[in-house]
Amino acid sequence: MEMTTPKDLTEALTAIDQDPDAVLLAGGTDVMIGVNFGETWPSHVVGLRRLAELTAWEGNRIGAGVTYRRLEKGPFAALAELSRTVGSPQIRNAGTIGGNLGTASPAGDALPFLAAVDAEVELASLNGRRTLPWHEFLVGVKRNAREPNELIVATILPEAMPPRQAFAKVGIRNAMVISTVSACLTRREDGTTTIALGSVAPTTIRARKAEAMISSEKSPTEAAIAEFGRLVSEEIKPISDHRSTAAYRRHAAGVLAKRLLERCL
Ligand SMILES: Cc1cc2nc3c(=O)[nH]c(=O)nc-3n(C[C@H](O)[C@H](O)[C@H](O)COP(=O)(O)OP(=O)(O)OC[C@H]3O[C@@H](n4cnc5c(N)ncnc54)[C@H](O)[C@@H]3O)c2cc1C
Repeated sequence: MEMTTPKDLTEALTAIDQDPDAVLLAGGTDVMIGVNFGETWPSHVVGLRRLAELTAWEGNRIGAGVTYRRLEKGPFAALAELSRTVGSPQIRNAGTIGGNLGTASPAGDALPFLAAVDAEVELASLNGRRTLPWHEFLVGVKRNAREPNELIVATILPEAMPPRQAFAKVGIRNAMVISTVSACLTRREDGTTTIALGSVAPTTIRARKAEAMISSEKSPTEAAIAEFGRLVSEEIKPISDHRSTAAYRRHAAGVLAKRLLERCL
């Protein structure tokens, strides 16, 4: 296994331009699972941990190499909240938001937050930079729109972040668990509400009909909150797999939606 450890972005971009099959390694908390289980043995690994641009975090621009450990202490309530639920302290010290985007798992816990706030993903190659909205970046189960010669450099949050935001997830135990269902909800002073869910469709999704219904309610009644939960559980597209059944996921998504809305109200 060849290992390249570029010292800056240009060196890293040159390395992947010359070898588009090279595997990018940030915290390694996803990549090394495959290696440890003998499922994959990359011939060339490009380490990203020395790249200062990736670990930079300025305001609403979060470098791809920012770890959950740092996000946990940051100003964005739901992002901090979800970061505290990821793995163990060891995983949070190593795992990065860019790695979550790179893996693009439907169960990636940072992704509902990025979807709920309408974040963008910034990509760089030797040819220049481009920025994609989250829904154009996440294209399928563990598939994203990154080209082999591109690096994810940052995720960009909107300037005006929703003041109220909350995240919750359900799994088969309380800690060190991959989400069976996850959800992030935001609400603004004018009532505009967004909700994004993970592990309930091939990619992270927004429940747009439910959002439209509850956004028109300035002071939602109990009945409106219940209807919101019902619409969310109706709108998702869950499957049954080794972690859960589609029916349970529908039920849990509705419960999480109602609880998160109540918290934000
Ligand atoms: C015990 C354990 C518990 C876990 N718990 C959770 C959890 O609760 N919630 C959760 O969401 N995840 C969890 N994970 C998965 C993992 O920690 C996260 O997905 C994490 O965000 C991956 O980040 P990383 O930096 O380690 O990525 P890596 O493993 O280094 O990379 C992951 C993928 O992204 C690519 N990549 C990384 N950085 C870039 C970049 N800058 N540009 C382009 N591609 C890039 C890599 O090539 C690879 O394909 C867990 C993993 C373990 C081992």
